[in-house]
Amino acid sequence: MLENLSERLQGIFSGLRGKGRLTEDDINQAMREIRMALLEADVNFKVVKTFIANTKERCLDAEVLESLTPAQNVIKIVLDELTELLGRTDSKLVLGSRIPNVIMLVGLQGSGKTTAAAKLAYRLLQENHQPLLVACDVYRPAAADQLETLGDEIGVRVYRGEGKDPVKIATEGIQDAIDSLRDVVIIDTAGRLHVDEEMMAEAENIKRAVKPDQILMVVDAMTGQDVVNVAAAFAERVDFDGVIMSKMDGDARGGGALSIKQVTGKPIKFISSGEKPDSLEEFHPDRMAKRILGMGDVVSLIESAAKIEAEEMEAEAAERMMRAQLNLNDFLDMNKQIRKMGGVSKLVAALPGGDKAMSQGQVDESALDRMEVIIHSMTLQEREKPDLLNGSRRARIAAGAGVQVSDVNQVIKKFNETKKMMKQFMPADDGRGRKGKKG
Ligand code: GDP
Repeated sequence: MLENLSERLQGIFSGLRGKGRLTEDDINQAMREIRMALLEADVNFKVVKTFIANTKERCLDAEVLESLTPAQNVIKIVLDELTELLGRTDSKLVLGSRIPNVIMLVGLQGSGKTTAAAKLAYRLLQENHQPLLVACDVYRPAAADQLETLGDEIGVRVYRGEGKDPVKIATEGIQDAIDSLRDVVIIDTAGRLHVDEEMMAEAENIKRAVKPDQILMVVDAMTGQDVVNVAAAFAERVDFDGVIMSKMDGDARGGGALSIKQVTGKPIKFISSGEKPDSLEEFHPDRMAKRILGMGDVVSLIESAAKIEAEEMEAEAAERMMRAQLNLNDFLDMNKQIRKMGGVSKLVAALPGGDKAMSQGQVDESALDRMEVIIHSMTLQEREKPDLLNGSRRARIAAGAGVQVSDVNQVIKKFNETKKMMKQFMPADDGRGRKGKKG
């Protein structure tokens, strides 16, 4: 998701970096290219227009052009504007004091509402809440079945009710939550393939009856340009507090995710990226903007690494050892494993004499962070084929990661050393046994 855009923007920036001084023409040219890249990623054209106008004005400032590092300043401005576009501040889900708290989900059919309802319930469960899911899609029995199956999977009660009146089911669902001592109710409403009067009226009626504490609109990240019309229709009729952007793992161009805040004024609260119940992440505009610009996303990385199952990691590591075809993505994964085990400091502290080493400040935990930022500043192709990393690429990566070229060299050197070391433990090519340590 958004990888094409990311590669395009990074290409534009490396062109700028190669120039040293920047003229107005250079800025105009770069802005034209950024504009094209955004449009091709399916970002709404009005959003693109405003984005480019704001960014260009700031970049053409004499102070920027005449500074010692004009390209860096331009990149900073783009990062800043992109963060603004995505919503600037985090907008976490804050539950009100009312018990049960009621969250209502709206959105088109197929947007990922039912899946998101279950994921949200799972998340709340992890946070020690007792959620209840209410199935209000009375038109498609399969929708209620789906919610029930998902509820069973994560161990969350699902209220289905009887009859064909979604308002009644929603109201009864809240009573069921009171009776069964649940503190959060998540109402999954019915969607349609397109915006229509009936769907809007129904959502309004449910809203009026249950007075939800929050309404979240689920938007499929693949919606592209049409996101504007759909979101505007919901905003006008039912209004909503925030967005859950689903299917962020898809290979769509992702323009919807970049347009929604600007178009609706409503923040993205969560992004959903997969079929598993735990694939709902809080959305952080700054981290996403950095990720798009290839500046790494260390914090998200650490958070998601913590979730990875230990067995899965072990199996992957074993497979990698067998392959001995280490690339920089594998290297990044190995880093994650170290973190998974508690980071360098904990590992070292567990070794004999480790405590002493730590107290003498011999452990550089931040090296892990730096390494990840550096690898994240590489393109996917570079990570897979580290041989591509020539001088100019290394310089670009260093600038992107905000480090010295020597730091990049250091990572590549470490990588090569690890690769060499692992080769020594690999079976010989002729398959007649293992190579000795001589390698
Ligand atoms: P609803 O009609 O809005 O309730 O949509 P569903 O929750 O039934 O989702 C529609 C389809 O999208 C289902 O096949 C889901 O498995 C799939 N889906 C939902 N969320 C995601 C996601 O984040 N990633 C992927 N890959 N698929 C998703």
